[in-house]
Amino acid sequence: MFYSFDGIDGGGKSTQLKLFCDWLVERGEQVVTCRDPGSTPLGEAVRELLLNRHDLEIHRRSEMLLYMAARAQMVEQVIRPALEAGKTVVSDRFLLANVVYQGHAGGLDVDELWRIGEVATAGIKPDLTFLLDIDPRAAAQRIRRELDRMETQTVEFRGRLRNGFLAEAARRPNQIRRIDAGRSIEEVQVDIRRAAEEYARTGS
Ligand code: ADP
Repeated sequence: MFYSFDGIDGGGKSTQLKLFCDWLVERGEQVVTCRDPGSTPLGEAVRELLLNRHDLEIHRRSEMLLYMAARAQMVEQVIRPALEAGKTVVSDRFLLANVVYQGHAGGLDVDELWRIGEVATAGIKPDLTFLLDIDPRAAAQRIRRELDRMETQTVEFRGRLRNGFLAEAARRPNQIRRIDAGRSIEEVQVDIRRAAEEYARTGS
């Protein structure tokens, strides 16, 4: 199984991902976690470029392709080998984030991004994505750590991101499960585990 967590920053991805992995391990699964972009030497170098090199001019299309390149490497170096070994993969973000940030919010063509993503990942995609959905203002209040490029964006931009995520969840209800992330950590985790169990039972 391949799971991913996505949504705007401050929704609780890292928090929930960790609890979810603990649960999977308790259930006897071998779990490999990764973060997109990142989790390979190339991916981490690209991540550094994208998030912290504020001195670089990066065009939206270049940015999009850098994310795609980092993901391609992660698929080949981390995700595919893990899945082939029968392990469970849990990724902090994946292609959906690229589609929403650079497409819905950034103005690039959304369907084209899915197609480029298909090429970049050689068709490997999460079986189930947990979309941690939260009001952008509530998310902003939660974030107290140092801001990087993505996190300095305005509430208005985050609203566009949120709508993009919701639009994709509506288009792909079997793969993307909206989780109301504005509640307590425990309540959110219960819903995530329930959605995973339901998926394992019914395949949707
Ligand atoms: P993300 O990875 O989506 O940016 P984090 O898991 O890093 O989100 O959470 C951002 C901040 O919000 C952290 O300080 C975290 O402790 C806090 N947080 C996460 N989930 C909740 C929640 N359900 N209620 C209140 N605060 C939360």
